[in-house]
This record gives sequence, structure tokens and C-alpha cells, in this order.
Amino acid sequence: MSAGATAGRAADPAQEARRRRTFAVISHPDAGKSTLTEALALHAKVISEAGAVHGKAGRRGVVSDWLEMERTRGISITSAALQFAYEDCVINLLDTPGHADFSEDTYRVLSAVDSAVMLLDAAKGLEPQTLKLFDVCRHRGIPVITFINKWDRPGRDALELCDEVQERIGLRPMPLTWPVGESGRFRGVLERSSGEFVGYERTSGGAAIASEQRLSPGEARAEVGADWDRAVEESDLLSASGGDFDAEAFHAATATPVLFGSAVRNFGIGQLLQQLVALAPRPEPRPDVRGRPRELDAPFSAFVFKVQTGMDPSHRDRVAFARVCSGAFERGMVVTHAATGKPFSTKYAQHVFGQQRDTLDLANPGDVVGLVNATALRVGDTLYTGKPAVEYPGIPSFAPEHFAVVSTTDPGRSKQFRRGIEQLSQEGVVQVLRSDKRGDASPVLAAVGPMQFEVAMHRMENEFRAPVRMEQLPYSVVRVLEDDQQRALADGRRSEVLDRADGTPLVLFASEHEMRTTQRLHPELKLSPVVGAQ
Ligand code: GDP
Repeated sequence: MSAGATAGRAADPAQEARRRRTFAVISHPDAGKSTLTEALALHAKVISEAGAVHGKAGRRGVVSDWLEMERTRGISITSAALQFAYEDCVINLLDTPGHADFSEDTYRVLSAVDSAVMLLDAAKGLEPQTLKLFDVCRHRGIPVITFINKWDRPGRDALELCDEVQERIGLRPMPLTWPVGESGRFRGVLERSSGEFVGYERTSGGAAIASEQRLSPGEARAEVGADWDRAVEESDLLSASGGDFDAEAFHAATATPVLFGSAVRNFGIGQLLQQLVALAPRPEPRPDVRGRPRELDAPFSAFVFKVQTGMDPSHRDRVAFARVCSGAFERGMVVTHAATGKPFSTKYAQHVFGQQRDTLDLANPGDVVGLVNATALRVGDTLYTGKPAVEYPGIPSFAPEHFAVVSTTDPGRSKQFRRGIEQLSQEGVVQVLRSDKRGDASPVLAAVGPMQFEVAMHRMENEFRAPVRMEQLPYSVVRVLEDDQQRALADGRRSEVLDRADGTPLVLFASEHEMRTTQRLHPELKLSPVVGAQ
């Protein structure tokens, strides 16, 4: 299985784009993202047997499940995207690193997708990381399909879970299926479009695709009894309260189709895939910095949404992951780097993708290209060929949650220290916050996940040879200060105003409580949330 094989050669990019579904899973750790990924791949016949990724014992800090999965299964995954064919479509599932890997990159991935699957644990509902990721989807207007997982074991009531989605994130739930039998006594689902019962047979550990039993309403009533009646009743209730599918509302990201299932038992995975094919948006012409959409069949263009730097100092490999927006990418083509106007050769795409997987010979809009030796490429950068030139809008900064003040322990290396900090800031490894009070010698680093600090420390010491001291600051809540004149009001004993690299003043608070206290004392203070903050 390879991207090249599914992409097909010399096809029309606009036509290829219509076949693409590029999405990411947004979820909280342990909701079942790895399990779902495998189950999707199993259904798409990328691999013949699921069940390799579950063990967490061998998990290493910065190695994602995907790399592990790739090693064990030999399927076509980069650390950024899994590509597989389903029906007539090519599906790109972009990884949203969680657990110890949760970082600003996780948010950035969402700038490269056309839709998202919100994966909820039936026993837990909406959890903090899901809410943060959803906030990014909302900000970008990304349509979301909801999959309620782990229905094979006891959990919450289906109606209650739907209410939670409506009330906490304001998305109107539109269940496409409805569970028959409460969680833990799962019999199957009522398919609301046909009114039929789709029952499931248990397979041991979900190692194979569960066989599907379809019954007409009459047959289901006879076979399933009270659980069926209850499901029908609840489904009617949903219809009466605006819960029927409305494609427009889904595309406008005001409502979400909902499916129920169990990733580990392969229940409902085929339905999810079918809905991705039928409903999920395909790549559209992307607007450039001036708001003009670039047609899908215009010459090649892409933007970088993630740059991964190897932690091994002996070879500083850097891979830039770019999402194709228009035209066809062919390995070896020379593209223009919009930020510098310089040519960039993609011949090394072969190295990473060719060696083991013979993947990226050709990519189309919606696909992800990994470029090695990409020292000049930064997150948000545009690459293109031909004329006219194009530049896509940069990727915004997201709400950091971890803050640390950093300085060098070797005064003789202060020049290298400043250069290193500047470089890490430009690359988006960490956000760098500054204030006159703290000065240039001790800026504040801000990150979504603590792993970003590890990477920053490592690179400062190994790449810039500037040994650093890092001290965590007791802040956890951040807001944008809307009115620069109000700095003095916001700079308090337990809050601090610092400027982001783009000039935006941020206020850091120790806690929600501190923020509310400050706002009570100064009701005139104008604060607004940073995307990704809860
Ligand atoms: P991730 O952290 O979101 O990637 O979650 P994993 O896929 O690693 O799953 C976390 C745990 O939940 C593992 O022990 C899985 O076997 C389990 N799990 C995942 N999906 C299901 C499901 O549908 N039912 C049940 N009972 N367990 C599940």
C-alpha cells in the first residue's frame, strides 16, 4: 500500500481533489484514537489484522503511536499522515499527537484538514483536550463528525451525551445511527436514514471486521424486542427536536452528525468511513493572503503545517510536512519558497518516503508531502511552482499552557543564546514572550505541551551551544490584552503582561480564579481568549 499507488499517475488535480478526504481525529488521550486509526485502516484493507498498537508499555516520550504502528505493521504512515483508499476515495488521516506529544503541532495539524472526527469515550463525554481541539475547529469553521466510542462497555446515556455536545460546544447533534441497547449491552444500531437495524456479531478483540446483520424494522422488533422499541422511540424524539441530518448545517459547522460504535470491536467503523466518503468536505480552492482562492488545477502549491526536527545531534534531520493545495506534486520538482523567493529542490522527498515505502512520487490537493533537509522551511511557509506566485496565510499562534523563563548559564554565549531563541521562535518550536521588565537575556518561553520545552532545551544546548537554565512560571491561563493602554491594570502581583513575537500583548494568570479576581477588580479590562484556550 503506498500513497503513490492510491494517487494514480498523471491525473487531473481537480479531479483527484474530488476523491480526497483529508481529516484528523480530535480526542482526549485514551478515548481510542489509535484503536480507531487501526480499525479504519483495517476496514480500508490497508492491513489485514488490527491489534498491534494498544500496548502503551513501550511508549517513548516523543515517538508517536504511528511510528510504532508503522514499524510493526509496515503500512504507509509518515509521522504526520496515514493514507489509504476506500471505495473510490483516497483518505488522508492526519495525526494529532496526544499524550506526551501534545504540543502546538497538534493544533497546527488542524489547519491542514478539511474535516475532523470528534472521538468521545461513551463513559466520559467531552474531555479537556477534545474541547481545546474543538475550539480550533470552531475557529476555522471545520465540519465535525462525532463518533461515540466504547459503546461495548457501560457508559453514559446516548441522549445525555448528545445534550452535552449541544450545551457545552453549541453543535447541534444529528445522530445518523442510534444505539440499540444501552452502552455495555450493545446490540447494534438503528440506521436512521433507512429505519433498519444493523446488528453486530462480536469478534474476538476486534481482530477482524465484524460481520453485519441487517434487519427490517419488523424483523428487528421480533428479534430484539424492548431495546428496539426504545431506540425507535428515542429516534422519533430526535426527529421532533431537530436531530435529523441537515447537510448545510454540517458544512456550516453548526451541527454534527453522530455515530455510535466500538473501535476495539470494529463496530460502526464501516459506517464512519462511508460517512467520511459521503459527507466530509473535499479540498476546496484555498484563499491566499489576499483572500483570492487558488484554483485546484492551478500549478502546484502547498503550505508547511509542521516541521519535525530530529533529536539526534549527529544528524540534524528536519522534515517539513506540507499540505498540497493546488496542482500535482511530483517528487524531484523544483518549487519556489514564497518567503525567500528561492528555489527549493524536492529530490530528497525520495529519501524519507522512497527508502522504505516508495510513497511520495506524486501527490494531489489534500495530500501531505514530507520534505527532508528542509532547513529553510518554517511552519506556515508556502511553496509553489509556476505563475502566478502564491502565498497562503500563516498559521496563527495558539493558547500556550506552560510557561518558563529561560536564560543562559554561560555569559560568554549570550549572543548564541539570543540567536538560538530567535530561531526557535521563528520555527515555532516554542512561542517566545518578552517584556521590558524581563529584558532580552531572560525571555519567557510558552508552549502548549511540555515536550516543546524539552526540544527547545535540547536544541539550545546541542545546536546553538548555549547552555540554558529554565525555570517554570506558575501561570496556566492566558488571554489577549485587547487594549495596550491597559497594561498597568493587567500587570499585577499574580499576573503578568508579555508580548508575543507578532506584537500581541498577552496576560498570563496563575489560575482561572486569579483571572476572575482581576476582572472583578477592573471590570473595564478588555481580555479575549486565545484560540485553543478553554
Ligand atoms: P488513544 O490514547 O486515544 O490513542 O487510545 P487507545 O486507542 O490507545 O485506547 C485506549 C484504551 O481504550 C485501550 O486500552 C483500548 O484498548 C481501549 N479502547 C479503545 N477503543 C475501545 C472500545 O471501543 N471499547 C473498549 N472497551 N475499549 C476501547
